[in-house]
Amino acid sequence: MAAEEQVWIDGRLVNKGDAMVSVFDHGLLYGDGVFEGIRAYGGKVFEEQAHLDRFYESARSIRLDVPYAADELSRVMSDLLVTNGLNDAYIRLVATRGVGDLGLDPRKCPRASVFCIASTITLYPEELYEKGLDVVVASHCKNHPNATPPRVKSLNYLNSVLGKIEANDAGVLEAIMLNHLGHVAECTADNVFLVKNGVVSTPPAEAGILEGITRDVVMRLCRQEGIECRERNLVRHDLYVADECFLTGTAAEVIPVVKIDGRPIGAGTPGEVSRRLKQAFHAYARGERDLPR
Ligand code: PMP
Repeated sequence: MAAEEQVWIDGRLVNKGDAMVSVFDHGLLYGDGVFEGIRAYGGKVFEEQAHLDRFYESARSIRLDVPYAADELSRVMSDLLVTNGLNDAYIRLVATRGVGDLGLDPRKCPRASVFCIASTITLYPEELYEKGLDVVVASHCKNHPNATPPRVKSLNYLNSVLGKIEANDAGVLEAIMLNHLGHVAECTADNVFLVKNGVVSTPPAEAGILEGITRDVVMRLCRQEGIECRERNLVRHDLYVADECFLTGTAAEVIPVVKIDGRPIGAGTPGEVSRRLKQAFHAYARGERDLPR
């Protein structure tokens, strides 16, 4: 294992402290690029195919040619886990438009740059997975689907950063964002689920969300567990009158929400369905149960 954490940048391994990109990289100048946040459990990259598919699809949507094939990037990730001596890890795979001039025309950037970080992450304090999270509904709405498409995991996270600032200002850790129609979309970097009368609901792709890979796993777990799960549009009222609420994301995994805008959700403690799905998620992530596609 290397003495200092290694970062892979376009075929080279460099020490974390020396891992730099150019100030002329359009990823930095314009947020022009795409990325993935990926977990590894027990040394194995979790839902790797789904992450790679989404990575190339995001790149395709913004007409960015990733100069590496999926199997090369797969090898980069698994080698980096070994190099950094990591079993349970968080991997960040990033493709930027690359170095160009000071105009924003991507044609001036001859080659995309790709880098990969394998490290660890703790998004929320451990005890909140048991106690549940307080969140607020942000006043900033999600980007319009025909503006910066929320389905593209782009380097342009300012919309989410504005939501996060609202959460910070309200003294909570996360914010739920509505779309331009007033429908519930998602949190700043997590998808949102509600439970009402035993039925699980989550906003559809058309609500302007990132189609989360954890979200997909949870929907499949619902199916396997015989829990009804619907993709449907939700409004603020649905949030306030839900029996349970929980969030999903690669970094967040599955975390219950117990308060929205200061209002207790259900009994104000994590609900049974959320708890069951959280356990099922961890069992699947640890390879202790199968899950059909
Ligand atoms: N929505 C947004 C905006 C995100 O950035 C993320 C990823 N952190 C998610 C949802 C959850 O997606 P995934 O489960 O694939 O991590």
